[in-house]
Amino acid sequence: MMYKSINMLPRDFDEVAINLPTALMLPLSTVIYSDPQSTVKLPRKVHSMTDADVFAGTFKIQPFFLPLFVPSAPSSLSLSSSSSSLRPFVTHLTTTNNLAITSSTSYKSKSYRQACSSASAVPQHLTAIVSAQWSFFWSLSLTMIQRNVVYRLISKCIPHQSLLHLRFPTVHLSPLCVVCSLVDDSIDHFLFVCSLKVAVWQGIISEFLWPTKTIADICHSLLSLDFHNIRYSQRPHASSHHIVIIAMSNIWKAHYRLIFDQTPFAPAAVLNSIRLDIQKMIDEDLIHASL
Ligand SMILES: [Zn+2]
Repeated sequence: MMYKSINMLPRDFDEVAINLPTALMLPLSTVIYSDPQSTVKLPRKVHSMTDADVFAGTFKIQPFFLPLFVPSAPSSLSLSSSSSSLRPFVTHLTTTNNLAITSSTSYKSKSYRQACSSASAVPQHLTAIVSAQWSFFWSLSLTMIQRNVVYRLISKCIPHQSLLHLRFPTVHLSPLCVVCSLVDDSIDHFLFVCSLKVAVWQGIISEFLWPTKTIADICHSLLSLDFHNIRYSQRPHASSHHIVIIAMSNIWKAHYRLIFDQTPFAPAAVLNSIRLDIQKMIDEDLIHASL
């Protein structure tokens, strides 16, 4: 529910009308339009300034702020009111998405999240997971990266190269997988079926899981959050679901070490990182058990 609410937050407030007192209390950084093409950086100190402080004309201004520069513009009641109010911004949060929030006096984050959850149909790939499996997933002790990768897989939010090329063709010039450069990238290819990632998964299966299990079995378990089919673990004190989640998070990290640090994706090194993470988890569990 929280992720969905965040996704539904408006990306712009161009149509919001505010009055002068409200404008003067806003932090200066919020009224400066951040142009993705611009190389001008805001000085750190600016974030603690307000519009009542000095304002230099180096930056573009947000559209909702521009009418206040015109002396004759504040003719409507909302603009000419003498008291400051952030209500126009709050109202915009609900009107943008046509959310059914009836209260006109107070908005709470919980009611906003609930309104977002009922505003559109839940995708089938999310409803296919039964609530008991969701509860199981949230109850697991995972690092932020481990939980993030699983959730991204389930929500189909993996930023694979084909998607990046589609969205930003001038930055990502090719849809080809950056690891093997042989085929167009996809969610499955990114996490499971690229040849070097297959090598990692096969290593995981032979060393930690039941040898007849397949990468497809692992993928299905992660997408359903039901790990019964791959429940056997060769490693004492390490459950199969923790093993595959740790493996996938290490594949994710190794992928981005290639992107950002130009560190080659080496299956042997990734497998070693997975072994270390599994041992670390076992050691931490033993410490907790002994307390
Ligand atoms: Zn590949």
